[in-house]
Amino acid sequence: MKVVNKTKWNTMDLRKIFCRCLKEDEKAEGKLYQRKRLTVHVHTARQDSHCSGRASYNGIWIQMNILKNINKRSIENICYVFLHELQHTRGYHHGQFSEVVLRDMAKVIAPDYVLTEKINIKKEKPDIQQIRYNRAITNFGKAETRLKRAKTIYKKWAQKVKYYEKVFAFKSSSNHS
Ligand SMILES: [Zn+2]
Repeated sequence: MKVVNKTKWNTMDLRKIFCRCLKEDEKAEGKLYQRKRLTVHVHTARQDSHCSGRASYNGIWIQMNILKNINKRSIENICYVFLHELQHTRGYHHGQFSEVVLRDMAKVIAPDYVLTEKINIKKEKPDIQQIRYNRAITNFGKAETRLKRAKTIYKKWAQKVKYYEKVFAFKSSSNHS
C-alpha cells in the first residue's frame, strides 16, 4: 500500500492507521489481492466538510479527505471512512456491507493511534558572517601552528650558526696565540 499525502498530517501516522484498518479488514474479509498496488491519496477536506473518501470498485486507488482540524472522534472517522472505501475496493456497493460492523471496527482501532502534524524542518538561512568567523578561527589556529613551527626551526638554526661562529672564533683566537 502506497500513501500519497498532500495534507499537513504526518504520513507515518496516516500509514499506521491505514495499515491497521487493512489488517483488521483482511481478518474479516480475507486478503485483499491488490493490497500491494493500492494507493491512498490523502487530501485536505474542505473546512465546512467532514472526513470523506472515494474509491474505485475493484480498483487500486482510494482518496481520503481529512480535515485540517481534528478532534477526539476524528481518527475513528478516518478509520471508518477508510474501511468503507476498502469495501468498494473489494467490489462491494453500498448495501452489500455492514456500516455498523465497520463503525464498531473503527471504534476498536482508533484509540491505538494518533495523528500528528508533519515536522516542519525549516532550513535556516546560513549566517554568512558566522561562517566567515568560523573559517577565520580555523585558519588562525593553523597560522598559529605554522608560526610555532617556524619559531622552532628559527631557534634551531640560529643556535647552529651561533655554535659554529663560536668554534671559528675560538680557532682564530687560538691560531693567533
Ligand atoms: Zn461509499
